[in-house]
Order: sequence, then structure tokens, then C-alpha cells
Amino acid sequence: MAQPHSTRSTCPYCGVGCGVIIERDGAQITGVRGDPDHPANFGRLCSKGSTLHLTASPAVQQQARLLQPMRRMQRGAAPVASDWATATDDIANRLADIATTHGPDAIGLYVSGQLLTEDYYVFNKLAKGLLGTNNIDTNSRLCMSSAVAGYKATLGADAPPACYDDLALADTVFVAGANPAWAHPILFRRLEDARQARPGQKLIVVDPRRTDTAAAADLHLQILPGSDIALFHGLLHLMLWEGWIDARHIAEHTSGFDALKARVQAFTPQETARLTGVSEFDLALAARWFATAGRTLSLYCQGLNQSSSGTAKNAALINLHLATGQIGKPGAGPFSLTGQPNAMGGREVGGLANLLSAHRDLANPQHRAEVAALWGLSDVPATPGKTAVEMFQAAADGQIKALWIACTNPAQSMPDQTTVRRALERAELVIVQEAFATTATARHADWLLPATTWGEKDGTVTNSERRISRVRPAVPAPGQARHDWLIARDIAQALEAQLRPGQPPLFDYPTPEHVWNEHRESTRGRDLDITGLSYALLDTLGPQQWPMPEGAAQGRARLYEDGRYATPDGRARFADVAYLPLAEPRDARYPVSLTTGRLRDQWHGMSRTGTLGRLFGHAPEPVVDLHPQDMAQLRLQAGDLVQISSRRGTLLLPAQATDSVAPGQAHVAMHWGDEVLGGRALPGQVAAGINALTTGAFCPASKQPELKHTAVRLGKA
Ligand code: SF4
Repeated sequence: MAQPHSTRSTCPYCGVGCGVIIERDGAQITGVRGDPDHPANFGRLCSKGSTLHLTASPAVQQQARLLQPMRRMQRGAAPVASDWATATDDIANRLADIATTHGPDAIGLYVSGQLLTEDYYVFNKLAKGLLGTNNIDTNSRLCMSSAVAGYKATLGADAPPACYDDLALADTVFVAGANPAWAHPILFRRLEDARQARPGQKLIVVDPRRTDTAAAADLHLQILPGSDIALFHGLLHLMLWEGWIDARHIAEHTSGFDALKARVQAFTPQETARLTGVSEFDLALAARWFATAGRTLSLYCQGLNQSSSGTAKNAALINLHLATGQIGKPGAGPFSLTGQPNAMGGREVGGLANLLSAHRDLANPQHRAEVAALWGLSDVPATPGKTAVEMFQAAADGQIKALWIACTNPAQSMPDQTTVRRALERAELVIVQEAFATTATARHADWLLPATTWGEKDGTVTNSERRISRVRPAVPAPGQARHDWLIARDIAQALEAQLRPGQPPLFDYPTPEHVWNEHRESTRGRDLDITGLSYALLDTLGPQQWPMPEGAAQGRARLYEDGRYATPDGRARFADVAYLPLAEPRDARYPVSLTTGRLRDQWHGMSRTGTLGRLFGHAPEPVVDLHPQDMAQLRLQAGDLVQISSRRGTLLLPAQATDSVAPGQAHVAMHWGDEVLGGRALPGQVAAGINALTTGAFCPASKQPELKHTAVRLGKA
């Protein structure tokens, strides 16, 4: 049980969604520990989660937090203090003016997978229901949109079918494009426990780098960057050849296998080895362990998602599960690991440019009518909104005049920073709603709105295994900071007075629970039905997995156990996907593959973790990892500055020799921004961390950009 001066909540970092107990003394957070009763972590926390209380210290609050509304009277000037009434009125007036003059699609909202579900719901309704634009997208577009599209294309719904308990039940764990040892540490601890308890469990890791996860594997398939689809097709080819497929599951529960079977004929072991760089022996071993060892669970993340063929990569992996019947049973299934703490919640409320509430599709007239009815409107707009990369391109081109950015830092995290910076400079109105005053995006804001953050917020989040947890406030909001849903609600109410005077209010939410109850009702009859769940039940039962419809005693651990999928005919669909090259393959001018990834102790753009010196002990400064062979060829010593150039920009970084990257490849952590690298960009270049180099090329189905790979050239600076 939590003590009187302690509050149960959820870690705000990764998608594992660990439960925490926050300790406080008066209005000060004094400690944090893992919640022993939370089914994601059973009391454990990683280096980031266990230091959360230190990121809420008085010193950090004073130095890093945004504590009152600030207004920049002209671009480049220092912002001056303002107040909420002025901010709300001015923003509502200017948004209404832009919507009236240029149309609602001249406004873009860019929100975050770190918002709570309640925040997300209000923002989504504000854009689609009140303003009348679908131009609302989120940094989840950079995180999980390929997983969403992959699930929908094959299984019929955006619903991870497995759960964390499956780690202990699997005979083979197949990790592709993920490094949970660093990016999902508590889940990795559970995997280590499972391997200790059952030494026969096999771990296969697919990664171009020898990460800590790969180093722990029984088999590391060190593929060439971007060759995942060739690998998955090649494994299916071998499974077919050896007779390791589940013909009954294919016949009774799927469609489209013949076309895929014909496609993978070309992916012979020899050809797959050529395309992927993996030996034929290792391919055969991987196919055998995946298909015949017993139960196989796949874990995957940004290595598949952040790709110009991300949806196809996801679908090609799911094909393997469908072909072998490794789905819908304990210890088996494809299982996407969510990057952010509430990327799932954002999808649930439909807070993306192509979605509507409760997994409804914008393109479906019936779904639009259902959402309009729920909101008491005659319709919601049908034109798809601009997705993340498209939104900033449209602002850079002058089509989008106002950008409202909440709880995210696109001036660091978006690819192709030259375009992003141009967008922020060209937009007539830039609103940045943030807890931290220190982000790169804050420097571009006309209005800075102070938001609450972890330890102060109240609502819900959903983790990777569809589990909804409560986020509870332990201390009051500091200064004039307000909850994100409340800021959006107040501006929405001011906008309503101008855009639909005299009509029934759309945003009559006294508390976040009122928002959640409306969201809950929107899920009735949908795949994620949570009409049986309430804040009160979350208090008494603890975190629950959706679906949990009215009358259910608890949430559901696994999906598709009856062999019926979420497609109209109940059959899963094999995806006959082509193997496509990288958006930017290596060539003579840019002969090196640059990959990006996470560090163990940092989170995203470091606005929170960067406030703690101890979290820099693991990786004190940004470096470029190079193979010793490439270091020698470039005549580099460790620590020498390297000039890294892509088609979009140049960075200077110290070199670090490591054989975790293959020759011809380079790796840079994603977290560092221009605060660190500002002195190291070349004259005339955008100094914006690694995303000064990355490409905005994206997957045509998911619109998720290829942040994981850029063709570069290297030279000694
Ligand atoms: Fe937080 Fe993720 Fe670490 Fe759990 S594993 S404590 S959710 S960062």
C-alpha cells in the first residue's frame, strides 16, 4: 500500500509504463520508488525512472521550468511575462482570425505521445470538432505509425495482441529493430528473468549494431541497414521449404497466402544472405528456432517503424507469425514496443491526422458520422490532415499559418531541421505549450504556455501491452503552470464564443475524469471498448488492459485467441509486400550508413533527463561511433572531430571507436540538440543535433519518416 505522503502514478518515460510511488513532503517531491503492485514492473525501476524525483527538485524547477505565460512581441526578442487571460484571449482571437481568413486548414496542431489520454482527447476534439481541420498530428508519427499501419493491414486493427507475461512463456524471443536493454530496460529485466528461469529459451536479435540486447542473444543477425523485409521473406522461404508452416492456421484463419508464397520464392538463402549480409547458416538457424522451438514472441520497435518502408517491415514480420500460427496463444505473437509513454492513448482517441476517436478511420463516412454524433455536430471534416513531416513542410511553404505545439520539441526531434526551422520562422503564430522553458522549439514561440508535468498531472496513459494506468498528481502545479487538457479546454471555450456563438458548449469538462468518461463512451462497441472501466475501478482493480467492455470483470491479456481477427471476414491478411531499398542508399558521394538510436540513461531531447548530471555518467557527450577499421582508414584517433555530411547538412562530432557498428556504418545517439552541438556546426549550417542530417523521406502508408538511416560521408575535421 502507498503511504499517506505517497501517491501511486506512472513513469513518464518509455512505453513499458512502469508504476511508481511518489513520495512528498508538503509541496515538494522527495522520492520515487517502483510500485510493487503494478503489473508492468512489480516494483522495479530503471536508471531514468528511479531518478525522477531529482528532476522535480527546487533547483530544476527554478532553472528549467516554464512557470508563467510568456509572450514574444517580435521574433528574436526575449519573451516577456504575461498572464493566462491575455494569453487565452489573444491566442483564440488570432486562431479564429486565421481560420476565418485562410480556412481552418491553415492551422496545424502538433502534439505528443507524452500527453495523457485526456489531454489528447481535448486537443483532437478542438481540431476536428471545433476548428474543422484534421491538421492534428503528433510525435507518435515519428514513433509508432508504421506499427499501427502494419497491424491494420494484417490483423485488421491497431491492437498489439500479446502481453508482457508472454516473455516468460515464450520458447523463442525474436527481437527486431529494438534495443530493449537500453530503451525498455524493465521489460529487458523481465526477459533476463525468463531466460534464467528457462535456460532453453532462445533469443534472436536482428540489428545492424551489436547492441547490449544483441550481445545477450543466442543468435545475432547483424543485417545490413534497411534489409529487414528481405530477411523476413528469406525466413519464410526457408520455413516453406522445410515444411515448418502451420497449414491449418493459414487455411482456417487467413487470406492472401498464395501471393506471398509466390513472392518469397525469390528470397532463396543465397539471395537473402546477399541482401542482408547474414550467413545462410544463421538464416537457417533463425528460421528453425522461430518456427519449431515452441512458442515465438517477436518484439520490435523503431528499427522497423522509422523507415520509408516501415509499414511493409511490420507486415512482413507479422506474416511470419501468421504463417507459423505463432499468434493468439500464450507466449506467442507479434508485439510492438511503444516508444513513448502514451503513444497508445493518442491512437485510442484518434489524435492523428488520419484517425478518429476510438480507432475509427477518417476515410470511413460511417465512422465520421459516429464521431460527429458523439460530439453533437452535424459532421467532422473528411479531408485527411497533414502528418508531422507534411505539416512542417506546409508551414515552411506558407500554407499553414499557425502552429500550436504541445509537449514536444520538433526543433530538435523532427527530421530535416532546415525545413522545420524555416516552418517555425515563416508561421505567423507559433504557440508552444511546454513544461520546460529550455527546449529548442521554445526559442521560436510567439506564445509560451506553461504546462504541468510528471508528479503534477492527473489522467491516464496506455502502455505497450494495452494496459491503462492512472497518472496521479502528488504535488500542486508550480507557478502558473496548468494541465494540458485545461489549457486546450480554455482556449477552445474562447474559440467557441467566436466560431459557434450561441450553440451548445463542446468543452464542458470540469475535471479530467469528465473527459475520460466521454472518451470511454466513444469506445462502446469498438475493438478497444473500455465501457466497463472507470477511474474508480482503476483505483480498486489497478491498471487494466483493453478491451474491457461493460460487464467485464477485468481487461483482456491476449487478443485473437479464438482465431478470429479484426477484419471484416475475421481472417488475418497476409501482406504481399515488396522489398524496397532505403530512401537514401549509400553511393559514391555518401558512402557510409548513419544509424541513430537511444542511450540507456537519456530520454528524447533530454529536457528532463538532461537536468541531472548523474545521467550523463553513462555517455557524457555526443560522439559518432565508428568501426576501428574505418577510424584507421580516415586516420582518426579517439576523440578527433569528424565532419559528418548528408545531403541536408553537416555536423562535427568526436569519433569513438567501437566494433558494435560494422565497417561502413556510423552511429549517433538521437538525444543531443543544438544546446550541445551549437558550437560544432559549420558556418551557414543548422546546428540541431543529428536531425540536421536526417531525411524527411517517409513511408507512403504510415507517413513515418526514415529517422533510422541516412547516407553520409565522413572526413577528419
Ligand atoms: Fe520508466 Fe521505462 Fe524505465 Fe520503466 S523502463 S522506469 S517506464 S523509463
